[in-house]
Amino acid sequence: MNEHYPFILAPLPYPCDALEPYIDSLTVTIHHERHQAGYVQALNELLCGCPQLQGYSLEALICNKNELPEKVRDKIQRNAGGLWAHELYFDCMTRCGSGNGAPCGKLAKAIEQTYGCFAQFQEVFTQTALQCNGSGWVWLACKQDGSLCILCTPLQETPLPQGMRAILVVDVWEHAYYLKYQNRRELYLQNWWKLVDWEFAERNYADIP
Ligand code: MN
Repeated sequence: MNEHYPFILAPLPYPCDALEPYIDSLTVTIHHERHQAGYVQALNELLCGCPQLQGYSLEALICNKNELPEKVRDKIQRNAGGLWAHELYFDCMTRCGSGNGAPCGKLAKAIEQTYGCFAQFQEVFTQTALQCNGSGWVWLACKQDGSLCILCTPLQETPLPQGMRAILVVDVWEHAYYLKYQNRRELYLQNWWKLVDWEFAERNYADIP
């Protein structure tokens, strides 16, 4: 995938039916080919008119708000954030049956130290996701001081501008689950846990300096 303009829609790391039965292939297809692709297209259209930003990475566009022309600032931030969050969301899951259910390295230890045990971490994360009002994202992130935190961000916002590094994310916009689960966000979350790629999350954590 391109690190800067023109951005492209990264292919899914698995076939669109790989998350069945927990996330159906129609939801995955629409989510990737329409929602995520929509951010790619809109962002490229915006950057087409801003040559000075065409070398910026997604992270740079998200974190350097003041460098963006005021007229398109919010639109660029929305689309860059939306694209970045969706790429991470799909990367955080793995083919049904191939995840290992829980982390088992440095991240596992940090979760235990912070939340007491893995089940308690899952409970706090799930409750945060259930309480996230409206459309947004729930993250496991690492603060600048190295501590873990669980937070909800609205719309297309990410924890990056707060200096945090993201380890894991779940999309709680209704488009992520409504076709299969309708209003039952809790059931979607319960099943999403079964798809989490903990090896990927462990790598994200290991990469933090
Ligand atoms: Mn989404």
